[in-house]
Amino acid sequence: MSFLDQKFQYLTPYVPGEQAIQEEVIKLNTNENPYEPPKAVVEAAKAASETLNRYSDPDCQEVVIPLAEHLGVAPENVIVGNGSDEILSFLFQGFMEKGAQFPDITYGFYPVYSDLFQLKASTIPLKDDLTIDLEDYAGEETVIFANPNAPTGLGISPTVICDFAKANPNRLIIIDEAYGDFGDVSAVPYLKDHPNLLVVGTFSKSRQLAGGRLGYAVGSPEVIADLNKLRFSYNPYNVNSMTLACGAASLASQDYVEACTNKIIETREWMKSELRKLDFEVTDSQTNFLFLQHPRVTGEKIFTYLKEKNIFIRWFNQSRIVNYVRISIGTQAEMEKCLAVIKQIEGVES
Ligand SMILES: *Cc1c(COP(=O)(O)O)cnc(C)c1O
Repeated sequence: MSFLDQKFQYLTPYVPGEQAIQEEVIKLNTNENPYEPPKAVVEAAKAASETLNRYSDPDCQEVVIPLAEHLGVAPENVIVGNGSDEILSFLFQGFMEKGAQFPDITYGFYPVYSDLFQLKASTIPLKDDLTIDLEDYAGEETVIFANPNAPTGLGISPTVICDFAKANPNRLIIIDEAYGDFGDVSAVPYLKDHPNLLVVGTFSKSRQLAGGRLGYAVGSPEVIADLNKLRFSYNPYNVNSMTLACGAASLASQDYVEACTNKIIETREWMKSELRKLDFEVTDSQTNFLFLQHPRVTGEKIFTYLKEKNIFIRWFNQSRIVNYVRISIGTQAEMEKCLAVIKQIEGVES
């Protein structure tokens, strides 16, 4: 007997990549950072655990102030949340009454939130080369897309986004920059000239804090104040005090974070060229994952073969990209093992 309200009976929840239980698994399926958090983060978490009897700071100043500085904006331009997924949920809940427009192939949570909040959502097909063309986004709906996009890995130039924002001053344009630190397409430097642009970011991918759950949005003080209206109507303690301490320590460890990002980019470029030697078509990813297909082997076969060898990657059983797989970039050693197993797949080496 289900007691769930009728209006939610039809929900299809988001399906996260599997979290590995066995030690020996090489986990390349959820775009986590393969490197551990900086030592300062571990120490900050321990220290913060000693005051868990107190509520966390609802203004999250410990993170908001250094994060604003890191982004080159003022604290009133920044809000933090329990992962960027929570920020995205506020955006879908409160800023899309005229409907939502997003690409047909993008982050899988957008259609889930559209359903949850019962929005009118239109999906706009990517071009044949899997890129986003903002010319296709006419209308009055709120626009949201990931840049670089997932799972394609491809980014569009922030100047194109700025032109679009300027031509559509009455629409909120939301750019999900979960992978922004691995590429060079961030719109953050242009926010001050475009009050209808909002950038969403996360500490999960480039800052080693996926399990800490810390995300943010940066934009005009008005949009941030409206987001805070929703946040304080829902859960003013949405970011716990250990996570706030970890976020502050991460921002104070910028050299370590950037060194890890650079290693990931180097490994990504190496893996991409090795895969291309094996006839894989690999997009020019600006993220911490690769998106690829092979002319002779299906995506499902690659996914299943690697899984049997305890290497977890992602395969989306979705039209247009059913032959592709997405492989997160792990350490160089993990990717060398992954490549060796890929070479064993029948049909890869002709
Ligand atoms: C991973 C990811 C997120 C979610 O990040 P969290 O901060 O961990 O909730 C949001 N958007 C995109 C495009 C992502 O890939």
